[in-house]
Amino acid sequence: MNLREIFNSAGETLMRTGSPDAQLEAEVLIRHVLRIDRATFFRDLEQPVTDCDRERLDDLVNRRLNREPLNYITGLREFYGLDFEVSDSVLIPRQETELLVDTVISLARSRPKCEMKICDIGTGSGAIAVSVAVNLPSAEVMAIDISQRALDIADANRRMHGVYNRVSLRRGNLLEPVDWKPEIIVSNPPYIRRSDLSLLQPEIQYEPRVALDGGPDGLEVIRGLLRQSSDKVSSTGAILFEIDSSQKDSARMLSREYFPNSEISILDDLSGNSRAILIEKFDL
Ligand code: GLN
Repeated sequence: MNLREIFNSAGETLMRTGSPDAQLEAEVLIRHVLRIDRATFFRDLEQPVTDCDRERLDDLVNRRLNREPLNYITGLREFYGLDFEVSDSVLIPRQETELLVDTVISLARSRPKCEMKICDIGTGSGAIAVSVAVNLPSAEVMAIDISQRALDIADANRRMHGVYNRVSLRRGNLLEPVDWKPEIIVSNPPYIRRSDLSLLQPEIQYEPRVALDGGPDGLEVIRGLLRQSSDKVSSTGAILFEIDSSQKDSARMLSREYFPNSEISILDDLSGNSRAILIEKFDL
């Protein structure tokens, strides 16, 4: 069989996952097995494929048929224009989370001080912390996670992107390891209601529960984040965290309880869904 035949048959098989991108996923898996770029893939479509490579591809296609996320199979995910290493110890960074990075960058650039201290709470793969550090060359970022396995992945990512010196990693619950006052606190906390978790698509069941489970009302971790931030954030600072659009009113009310005199805004993602809460202008 040549590459084109393998490509067509893998694409057809992967349609069984219900993915609208089955053919593209087939291409990604084949390129991963053969370690080739896109241009080489299309150039070599008429070339034969060895039995050994076919077997390796069949294994990966079977994992995908069991609904393992494509990014866990390849071990890579693109976020904010950068490649990140991922494993099932970390949440796969979502495109909508890029809103947090955009917002941190514009907040930092609008301030006179250039050495910003930023904390990324529940960093996972380090996608937010590393993207922020890459785009703000004088920022210092502390990235915190409760999971050591997640921090190992974040460590690989800060090294891969050359920001090892400006992204420090700490293990702990929320802001507990923070012993200075950050200017910006950013977080993509777990915010899914516990009872909704089992209803989500099979791919999400492969992701770490600790990164998704927001307790009975989905707001448990956000509540802890707000409580701890009110002691720690600098008086000129900002707090920014991701939410589900259904939580915009409850998350805003909660933020108002902890920061009664601050400016609180709801930010929309590119699809027009309410995706983050921004708290600024503290009167602590
Ligand atoms: N947005 C993610 C999802 O829909 C949830 C991420 C989170 O809880 N932080 O799967």
